[in-house]
Amino acid sequence: VDRPETSDEWHMPAEPIRQERGHPPPKLAIVLPCYNEEEVLPETSRRLLLLLDDLSESGLIEEGSLYFVDDGSEDGTWQFIQSLAASNERVHGIKLSRNYGHQRALLAGLLHAPGDVVISIDADLQDDLTATKSMLSGYASGAEIVYGVRRLRQMDTSVKRVTAEAYYSILRAIGVNLIFNHADYRLLSRPVIEALREYKETNIFLRGLIPQLGFQSALVYYDRQERFAGVSKYPFSKMLALAIEGITSFSDVPLKIITILGLVISLVSFAMATWALWIRIFNPSAVPGWASTVIPLYMLGGIQLLCMGVIGQYLAKIYSETKSRPRFIIEKLI
Ligand code: UDP
Ligand code: MG
Repeated sequence: VDRPETSDEWHMPAEPIRQERGHPPPKLAIVLPCYNEEEVLPETSRRLLLLLDDLSESGLIEEGSLYFVDDGSEDGTWQFIQSLAASNERVHGIKLSRNYGHQRALLAGLLHAPGDVVISIDADLQDDLTATKSMLSGYASGAEIVYGVRRLRQMDTSVKRVTAEAYYSILRAIGVNLIFNHADYRLLSRPVIEALREYKETNIFLRGLIPQLGFQSALVYYDRQERFAGVSKYPFSKMLALAIEGITSFSDVPLKIITILGLVISLVSFAMATWALWIRIFNPSAVPGWASTVIPLYMLGGIQLLCMGVIGQYLAKIYSETKSRPRFIIEKLI
């Protein structure tokens, strides 16, 4: 398990692993959320089955299995999972009743996969499979959570890289505990998953939730690859929704910011009103300016709408949480 070179570069440096609390080789389940991934699944499953053999042979695991979560795919994803599961007892499928999105599909897999440890990974082979070995050695030496951290991101588009970096920094600035450059490639032990089960919130952002759980943790660094085939299933709209989710689920700083903004603007308006009154009383010949009337009107209108939008986001969240609808519905298990 690698360590960060400079610990202040990272928001949450890995805690030292206590050697005396090691774990024996575990039963491993690998969870893969899949949405329209028929193009990559043959190669992904081939490589993962080889990986399981390799991990068993090298004594890192006792046994291993794969859990494919079909997140309401419209292509042949489920058919593929079914036929693979029919011919291979290490392969399992979880079919969700519709498309619930990456985070919920992942949660469905995590809460249903058995075993002592679960590793979650994207289906598109962007995350380096060899990092699983380091994750398992982290577990062997006592870690309950091992985070996969992207070392290089030049395979991502520059827009994605810049927005991702800005986003992690904003979250960090408003006090959300997050592992820099860690997505959803991680190892969780059984006690951690049981703790995660206790979190009943409908809107889930695992990257923020898991560091909150505590437990002994470690980091593993890997280089992000290009998607093996197919196109990203994360269009800008989904990325934005995930980004808002991350902020509104873990921080009320936006609400504080608009409160302060409102206070400042009120003070400025009060000063301007005093100034206008002053002119009106002591300079009767002055024609009131058009600009000084219209500009604050537009500006205040814009700011008010923005603030209402932010409040609306939180209100919508309270609304969806109070309904406490199921986070996913499993249609079939194989
Ligand atoms: N995914 C999913 N449901 C969705 C969108 C994506 O299960 O609604 C899965 C997808 O199949 C993949 C993982 O989430 O295994 C990450 O998606 P993708 O690789 O498209 O995202 P990117 O790497 O471009 O951020
Ligand atoms: Mg991807």
